[in-house]
Formats: sequence, C-alpha cells, structure tokens
Amino acid sequence: MSPISRNLQAVQEQIASAAQKASRDVDGILLLAVSKTFGPDAVIAAADAGQRAFGENYLQEALDKIVAVRQLRPDLLLEWHFIGPIQSNKTRQIAEHFDWVHSVDREKIAQRLSDQRPAALPPLNICLQVNISGEASKSGVAPGEVLALAHAIAGLPRLRLRGLMAIPEPAADFKQQRLPFRRLRELAATLQGAGVAIDTLSMGMSADMAAAVAEGATIVRVGTAIFGARH
Ligand SMILES: *Cc1c(COP(=O)(O)O)cnc(C)c1O
Repeated sequence: MSPISRNLQAVQEQIASAAQKASRDVDGILLLAVSKTFGPDAVIAAADAGQRAFGENYLQEALDKIVAVRQLRPDLLLEWHFIGPIQSNKTRQIAEHFDWVHSVDREKIAQRLSDQRPAALPPLNICLQVNISGEASKSGVAPGEVLALAHAIAGLPRLRLRGLMAIPEPAADFKQQRLPFRRLRELAATLQGAGVAIDTLSMGMSADMAAAVAEGATIVRVGTAIFGARH
C-alpha cells in the first residue's frame, strides 16, 4: 500500500467517524484531495486508490498537472476543483478546465466565468467564498453581502450556484473550530430561506475536518493529511 493510499484511508475513516457522531450519512460528504504543490504522480497514486476529486489553488500549476495526468493516464476520469484566489484575466482558463470553482467572491468574476464557460461543457459549479471569521485575509465576500451576490449569480446561465465555502482562521480546539463552520451553515440556511437553492458547504481542511463535518460540511478539502507536508 502506498503512503498516499494509507493516508487516504485514514482520512476517510476520520470523516466516517465524524459523520457517524453527527448522525450523518457519509455518502453526503465529498472528500476533495488538495494536490497543490504535488506532482502528477501524487494525483495518480491517489486516483489509483479510488480518489476522484482534486483541488488546486494555482492556475498554471493546475493546468500543467491536468494535462500531464491526462497524457499519462487517459483512463482516469477525474473531477477538478479550483479553490484559489482568482485574477480576472485567468477566468477563461478556469472556465475551460475545471468542474467546480469554490472561491468566487465578486460578481465580475462570476459574470466572466459564465460568459467564458464553453457551450459543450455542463454549467460550472460555483461556491461563494465567505469571509466568515472577518479575518485579516482579504478573500471572501462579507456575510452581509452574500445574499445579494447569490441572487446576482443565480441568474447567470452557464453557472450553477451550489453553495458556500470558507477558510476560517485556525482555532485551538474542536469547540472553537466548530463556531465559524456553524455560522457558515446558518448563513446557507438563510439563503435557502430566501429562495436560493443551494446544497453545498465546502468547509474543513486537514486540521479541522471533523469539526466541519459535525457542522454539516458536504465537501471537505484535505491536502496535508493525504499528500504530506508542502515545501
Ligand atoms: C491548501 C488548501 C486546503 C488544504 O489544506 P490542508 O491543511 O493541507 O489540508 C484546503 N482549502 C484551501 C482553500 C487551500 O488553499
């Protein structure tokens, strides 16, 4: 068994155990393997262990990797999620090469992604990144502005608004970790109450995936616990 396949199994067990404690069906939780800084070989090792969905932060690195994996292993049918900051001059390549984008926080970016999504592909799945801790990091829409952004995006023809994403500040313990995830869940419920049809909470990383699952995560984005420390 490769180290990556062992790690994947351990992460899946953590998710299953957290789901069971929360009386949730583990099938409702997608494990997104965050492969940034790791090469095509690491993606292939994870794919050979059954992993299908991969997350990337840096566009050029991601495009090189997607092409390399496809050349090496045309048999693998993988799903690619863009989870990093988006520059507006990069939206075309994101729209052409990804299945999901988790980091939309401006209408202008959403408009461009919709305009540039190729007609031959299904609508691009979108999560709105929310600045849930009000932290110094400038990424993410403020919680009070999410509903307006969601309404604007729901009308774009080549996008499918799926839900919310957040990267809270690191917290000391499980209880503290749960708080921002709970706020994101409540914000999603507010949107649903206002008629916005969403089904996704993208939250939780290596250090806090159990807390995120306890609060309703439907996608957990895990890098280090699968691939090891990044250099
Ligand atoms: C890097 C990254 C992850 C994975 O983080 P780990 O701590 O390595 O699991 C998840 N989400 C985003 C947005 C990231 O940038």
